[in-house]
Amino acid sequence: MNTSSPNQVNQPNSLISVDNNRISARGKSVLNSGEVALVGSGPGDAELLTIRAMRFIEQAEIAIYDRLVSDEILALLPENCERFYVGKEQAKHCVPQDRINEILVEEARLGKKVLRLKGGDPFIFGRGGEEAEYMLQHGVSCHICPGITAASGCTTYAGIPLTHRGVAQGCTFITGHIQNNGLLNLPWQSLCCPTQTVVFYMGINTLSKITEKLVEHGRDINTPAALIRKGTQPEQKTYRGTIGNLAELVKKHNITPPTLIIIGDVVNQLTTEQLTTPGFLDAKNYTSQGTDQETNAIEKQTKTA
Ligand code: SAH
Repeated sequence: MNTSSPNQVNQPNSLISVDNNRISARGKSVLNSGEVALVGSGPGDAELLTIRAMRFIEQAEIAIYDRLVSDEILALLPENCERFYVGKEQAKHCVPQDRINEILVEEARLGKKVLRLKGGDPFIFGRGGEEAEYMLQHGVSCHICPGITAASGCTTYAGIPLTHRGVAQGCTFITGHIQNNGLLNLPWQSLCCPTQTVVFYMGINTLSKITEKLVEHGRDINTPAALIRKGTQPEQKTYRGTIGNLAELVKKHNITPPTLIIIGDVVNQLTTEQLTTPGFLDAKNYTSQGTDQETNAIEKQTKTA
């Protein structure tokens, strides 16, 4: 007897099992009582969640989440799931990290299915490694689930490719957060290669120091740069400029966290007119900037087809 509803995709080998538009747990993504799922929720847009993240979300009995987890994603938690906010703002920890670690272990020991939900990717400037380590030290097993990190999600939605052939051969993610000693000690020299994109997380409050140091170590003051605030979310705003005027942009527009700083020629690689809404490049009125033979060849083929 076939009990599938029209909404179900329950093929024996199908990776996804959808029941009434909900994705159910299967295989590797089963969250047992007493376990924690350390899940990256991406930069905000719920459509950027992975299927694995969604599976854990739907099984959660308690969700312990940060400030960067968007409302849209919190709305996906099961109705009866307990919510525990431990959000942090720069220099203002709502719940200290040590306490967060303890809470995770305590809730797991109560036999709950614990979801530790974090913005972006838990292992990229997310202290996910410390939390996992603490849980293991205390005998709590945890599933780890990557998320789209802000550098990737925000730039893509802003029409900025992090690398581009002939323009940027590499990309560095780095923190602009001031260290406990009050200093911003970064390997400045290594951030100054003109064919390298640099993405600063947590850098908005130290931005003038960052731009000053980059120029001091040889990065061209006219290098294109961008600030993306609340990337991938309905309020996303992108401000484009150069290293030389980023600090002015912050003042003028009163830009606050969460904001990402992107430095490199890729910022202007795609024309902004094509970006009609975040994450959508409109081909209308596009005139190719491409100069390489491959691009021209593809264009010719399309025209003659
Ligand atoms: N684990 C997260 C990063 C946490 S650090 C990740 O992988 O994305 C927090 C910093 O990330 C913020 O200060 C900001 O610089 C950046 N950030 C995170 N989400 C963002 C968003 N939606 N828009 C812009 N910047 C974001």
